[in-house]
Amino acid sequence: MSIFWSSTAAALTPYVPGEQPAEGSMIKLNTNENPYPPSPVVLEAIRRAVDGNLRLYPDPNASRLTAAIAARFALTPGEVFVGNGSDEILAFAFQAFFDRDQPVLFPDVTYSFYSVYANLFNLPFTTVPLDGQFRILPADYQRPNSGIILPNPNAPTAIGLPLRQIRELLEGNAGHVVIVDEAYIDFGGESAVPLIAEYPNLLVIHTLSKSRSLAGLRVGYALGQPELIEGLNRVKNSFNSYTLDRLALVGAEASFMDEAYTRSNITRIVQTRENTRSALERLGFSVTDSEANFLFVSHPAMPAPVIFRKLREQGILVRYFDKPRIDDYLRITVGTDTEMAALLKAMVEILPDTDSL
Ligand SMILES: *Cc1c(COP(=O)(O)O)cnc(C)c1O
Repeated sequence: MSIFWSSTAAALTPYVPGEQPAEGSMIKLNTNENPYPPSPVVLEAIRRAVDGNLRLYPDPNASRLTAAIAARFALTPGEVFVGNGSDEILAFAFQAFFDRDQPVLFPDVTYSFYSVYANLFNLPFTTVPLDGQFRILPADYQRPNSGIILPNPNAPTAIGLPLRQIRELLEGNAGHVVIVDEAYIDFGGESAVPLIAEYPNLLVIHTLSKSRSLAGLRVGYALGQPELIEGLNRVKNSFNSYTLDRLALVGAEASFMDEAYTRSNITRIVQTRENTRSALERLGFSVTDSEANFLFVSHPAMPAPVIFRKLREQGILVRYFDKPRIDDYLRITVGTDTEMAALLKAMVEILPDTDSL
């Protein structure tokens, strides 16, 4: 507490990101980063942009990047918004589309930034419980609201929602915006982007942090009909004209010039995910059906916080959330095959006498 803090600042419960240990000191499976480096095309583009022009402000409209993204998804530039990480776009979206008269709806088990933003912007919210198998039930969202937000696939459960159910959400809430946070969509789920033409209330948010190996560059984008994009621009241009710096703009643009590289890494990660899932199941873990680049696991013979601590002692970082319903689960990012082999070896040592395999 401080006498200098505003009542807003004093009342906040900030988001706590996963630990970023000193580089190379740990096997890092805790923040869903991509284990492979960005495309050489991206790195070269950024290198080329390191010059005297850094004295100039970047393009406030991010025209080139916006055009590249529009082309990638067969949309118009007016249907694309870019931001400093998708977290920033989420913050803008909360302010652009949600009101105080009704609650914002999101799942009870989901990305923890949603409640943080709702509190920061003083927006009432109601959490809608997932069912016993951690599934989102669209019918539960048929209640008064000022908007809906959910990740697909959901985090940290990794479970995807079929497009038919996204449609149900959109049709049941035609008067309010439904935000689908597709941070992990490239690893398996069904993207809602093809529905944009049909639903003026749909906003889809993507990030370059996961499938495109660019968490350090901080770039995300939103796709939706021009009315929604304009809403985001109104908020952004009342906050910061230059959310993306010159290097981020060229690096992100270059990423869309090398789709083959991204695709091949996704294929590798999905393969590693499925192998790791089978191996963990053989060790007695229950593992949700993952359509993401992480696994959500629980073991009947050892509490998750204990496994978390023992893995940490062995130099392996995973994510544990001490929250209702998921406090016996671990979220494990899919790393390289070598990292996953180290994880499995550590698990065998940690777990009480598994007569598995
Ligand atoms: C990682 C993640 C984000 C944030 O991505 P950035 O673009 O790095 O800010 C947003 N939503 C979900 C569900 C995520 O897991």
